[in-house]
Amino acid sequence: MKKLLFTTAVSAAMAAAVTTTPTLADGHLQIVKGDPLELTIQMNHARYPVYKEDWPVEQKARELTNVHLKDVTVGANMRTDSENTGKTEALNLMLASGTIPDIVGSSRIKDFVNQFGPEGAFLPLNDLIDEHAPNLKKFFAERPEIAAAISAADGNMYYIPYLPDGKYGRAYWIRTDWLKKLGLEVPETVEDYEKVLRAFKTQDPNGNGVADEVPYFARQWPELIRLVTLWDGRSSGSDTYHDFMVVDGKIEHPYAGEGYREGIKNLARWQAEGLVDAEIFTRGSSARDFLLSENLGGSTHDWFASTSGYNRLASEIDGFEFKAMAPPASISGKRIEEHRRIPIKPDGWAIGGTNKHPVETIKYFDFFFTEEGRRLANFGVEGMHYDMIDGKAIFKQEFLDAGPVNRSLYQVGSQLQGRGYFQDYGYEIQWSNEFALEGIELYDQGDYLIDQFLGVAFNADEQKVYDRHWGSIRDHMLERQQSWILGNGDVEADWDDYMAQLDKLGLSKVLEVMNSAYKRQYNK
Ligand code: CA
Repeated sequence: MKKLLFTTAVSAAMAAAVTTTPTLADGHLQIVKGDPLELTIQMNHARYPVYKEDWPVEQKARELTNVHLKDVTVGANMRTDSENTGKTEALNLMLASGTIPDIVGSSRIKDFVNQFGPEGAFLPLNDLIDEHAPNLKKFFAERPEIAAAISAADGNMYYIPYLPDGKYGRAYWIRTDWLKKLGLEVPETVEDYEKVLRAFKTQDPNGNGVADEVPYFARQWPELIRLVTLWDGRSSGSDTYHDFMVVDGKIEHPYAGEGYREGIKNLARWQAEGLVDAEIFTRGSSARDFLLSENLGGSTHDWFASTSGYNRLASEIDGFEFKAMAPPASISGKRIEEHRRIPIKPDGWAIGGTNKHPVETIKYFDFFFTEEGRRLANFGVEGMHYDMIDGKAIFKQEFLDAGPVNRSLYQVGSQLQGRGYFQDYGYEIQWSNEFALEGIELYDQGDYLIDQFLGVAFNADEQKVYDRHWGSIRDHMLERQQSWILGNGDVEADWDDYMAQLDKLGLSKVLEVMNSAYKRQYNK
């Protein structure tokens, strides 16, 4: 035992000696010797529509790997503000151009490569990873559910995903200073929550003598639908709105369940009583900023880091305090937080089917799963954007002070979701304020998160069924949902007709192909 400890200590000392050697002279991450290898890349993301060769992160990656990425992005100038399109048009344009670059990185690349990869447009990665990418291989061996989730219907992986780190995304937030002012406790149950929202509406907590408070508001209107969880319904099975969900090993849709019906009935009542923003469906992304700054908004369901930042308003609004609260218990006593960071995104990068250097390219992908590469992808360049302190990457103060940290990182080529990499939550914790950290601790203690549906890859026949029916089913679901909330129709009276209509539109067929794909992918 003693000998083992001694050996370990020596190895650790040797490892430490190696890491203190300047990386430049070391060269252990070099993928090719001699002349640098140039690989072309298409990179599309709403925030960085091309791959910039002068990004410090690209420059550092060149130095470490001797592989140079050359930007050949097609369709970079296309911008779109609609919710679901991402940059798929740019990918289609690239495909139509007849040339697929060596590397293709994009948001929403998963369905695209899973469709066109098996036809030859992208290389299958499984054997390449197995033989040439020890770090990727290790990652997928430790996380087989992720390997299953990204695999296409033919069983191959065609892209390396962006893998978010950290569990928590959204939380319930409430004006705790208003609670104190009105002599109320933080709500523990859905009944309490309703009472509090009603008190916000009727007891003038902002003190201007007008019933102008907006008790529940949201930047994204589906965050109102999220509240059906308080009546044991569900609004989505993943971090994507309106998604399918897994119930006892089977795929179902949340908008066809009884808890959902009960939730919608009650939310329609809340809406009619003014407990919910009258403009919930139209106010849009400025809702949080406007309603908090104007001292009008009472409660919402939104992201930890960005929402906690509004406590800065305390300098303008006397006593302002907006804190995370635990999810109120549902009518059956369940406390769940339906939203969480998904462990895997449909974003990332793939190898073009005509790439002449697949081995070097998979080694390059593997580089970003080494310790040095992962740090580069997360924190930028050592000495420029961060320093190593006690074995941790710590951002330089001037980098933190330079504006929104996410934006600063994109601008140097870090935290790119069009790159396959494993995020390190340590990057975010450094600029989360005390309110966010306190809230995360609260959610951690309570263990409110639930498992997520990680998606399926259809074969060609399944895809046809899905494409034929799903659009109109979804449209009908959302149209009815909004009508019921706004008081056009009564969800209980309409329910049987609604379910019959969903069936007529093909819901059972869609569920059938979802389930066959799900079974193939996860029950191997
Ligand atoms: Ca008022």
